[in-house]
Amino acid sequence: MSTARRFVIEETKATHEMMAALTDVRLVRNLAYINGKWISGEQFNPVYNPASDEIVGYSTQLSCEQMEQAVLEADNAFKPWRQLQADQRGEYLMRWYQLILEAKQDLAHLMVIEQGKTYSEALGEIEYGASFVRWFAEEARRSYGETIPSHIPNAQLSTIREPIGVAALITPWNFPNAMITRKAAAAMAIGCPVLIKPASETPFSALALAELADRAGIPAGIFNIVTGKASTFSHVVCQSDKVKALSFTGSTPIGKLLLSDAASTVKKCSMELGGNAPFIVLPDMDIAQAAQAAADAKFQTSGQDCLAANRIFVHHTHYDAFLEHFAQHVEQQVVGNGLDPDVTVGPLINRKAAEKAMQLLNDALSKGARIVAQSPSAKGHTSTRGNFFSPTLLADVTPDMAVYREENFCPLAAVLPYHDIDQVIEMGNDTEYGLAAYVYGHDIHDIWRCMRGLEFGMISVNSVKMTGHPIPFGGMKQSGLGREGSQHGFDEFSEIKYCCLGALPTASGS
Ligand code: NAP
Repeated sequence: MSTARRFVIEETKATHEMMAALTDVRLVRNLAYINGKWISGEQFNPVYNPASDEIVGYSTQLSCEQMEQAVLEADNAFKPWRQLQADQRGEYLMRWYQLILEAKQDLAHLMVIEQGKTYSEALGEIEYGASFVRWFAEEARRSYGETIPSHIPNAQLSTIREPIGVAALITPWNFPNAMITRKAAAAMAIGCPVLIKPASETPFSALALAELADRAGIPAGIFNIVTGKASTFSHVVCQSDKVKALSFTGSTPIGKLLLSDAASTVKKCSMELGGNAPFIVLPDMDIAQAAQAAADAKFQTSGQDCLAANRIFVHHTHYDAFLEHFAQHVEQQVVGNGLDPDVTVGPLINRKAAEKAMQLLNDALSKGARIVAQSPSAKGHTSTRGNFFSPTLLADVTPDMAVYREENFCPLAAVLPYHDIDQVIEMGNDTEYGLAAYVYGHDIHDIWRCMRGLEFGMISVNSVKMTGHPIPFGGMKQSGLGREGSQHGFDEFSEIKYCCLGALPTASGS
């Protein structure tokens, strides 16, 4: 443990409590992890527990020069890593996967403390995040090229998939583990070093992954965590010719900014951006089941989920019955510290998020929406910054309300009636976002019309759970570019090289 780390880690009472709850305190790191070393910047930024607003620790802020050096070191590590056999890269990743699973309880605990979600949600995320590491460890050996029937006499035509080079990854705070592994495992398996800039709210989950990558023996320079100012990082990586790919998960406005910054060096960009998911309850659906599913799709991660059901459309014949059932689910939610096993909805990430939730609510109420139910307020926990927001059922939402137009990112359930399938498909599509949509019903004809008509990258019928390592995760329209996970996950970090092997005439001329 370095002197700098000991000083900042032992500074607060909350830090001591966090460390005492872990079985492996070496997972708590606050220096950046660059080229296999723990590096201190010139200053440290506080990291808060959103449930208590206490400072739980500090993470270091690297300078522009240190970030530039990190790019150079990652680039130096590229050649030997890409030259390993795919099986060898896969073995490194498999060791990392095993260490992540062995540490999953500590990793989940750390995540609750800096992110606020419930412990069971955090544990689920660690397992989900680890599944990408395993998937790409196995897929490494299957990154096939293709042979092409030749249109040139006697030539052999083929393609080879090659790693693109250093990849810069920028990730959000709502899934501080899985958004890293879903990108990094794909990039590393195909042969690319990664430079990861985690969200400033959740650096510890990222740094714990680095500690485990180090223990797994992943060579220096391949997995790097760069903590510091987001704008400095994006400037450094976007200007650098050595960084060949930029993969971002976060809000649509920042994604647009990055796309324009990355244009100067023509980087390969993949963007996992915001969502505004419709949840459509078809006329023949069992209403109690639909209400349960809608509540599950709305309240996970306190509604701070790009897949959260943002607008819930219910056929007008069942509207009142649906509200009644949904109200029961709202009233059963228990709000509080995610480490409390009774709690189902943790705090929002910070005060700004709670204020935004309140603005959305007030805007909707001023335009005619009504509150049908609200869960009891935070269980025994107060936050001086007021980060808690009680799950709220809002009926009679209309398209002029911000809660309909914007990604809510809070436990505010917005419900509205519709009259026929054409109308609900049109309303579902009435957004610049196109990440995910849910459809609940039985009639296969209606389901099929929704599946074909909805302009979203992922459509889930009669299931809240839709994500996982084998599926291509990603959005249409302004929800993003590219896909993560699945066999397509390599596309964002590789180039297709076409080779034409012609046949020279032999010396005898035959
Ligand atoms: P955000 O504000 O866009 O931040 C995401 C990341 O971008 C953070 O690491 C942040 O760093 C960084 N960032 C901020 N400003 C930047 C800049 N000027 N240049 C470069 N990087 C910058 O989003 P968020 O609030 O963390 O996350 C919520 C959003 O992510 C929602 O819109 C959600 O839908 C989306 N999301 C999408 C998916 C998906 O798969 N499609 C998954 C999860 C989340 P700092 O923290 O240091 O500011």
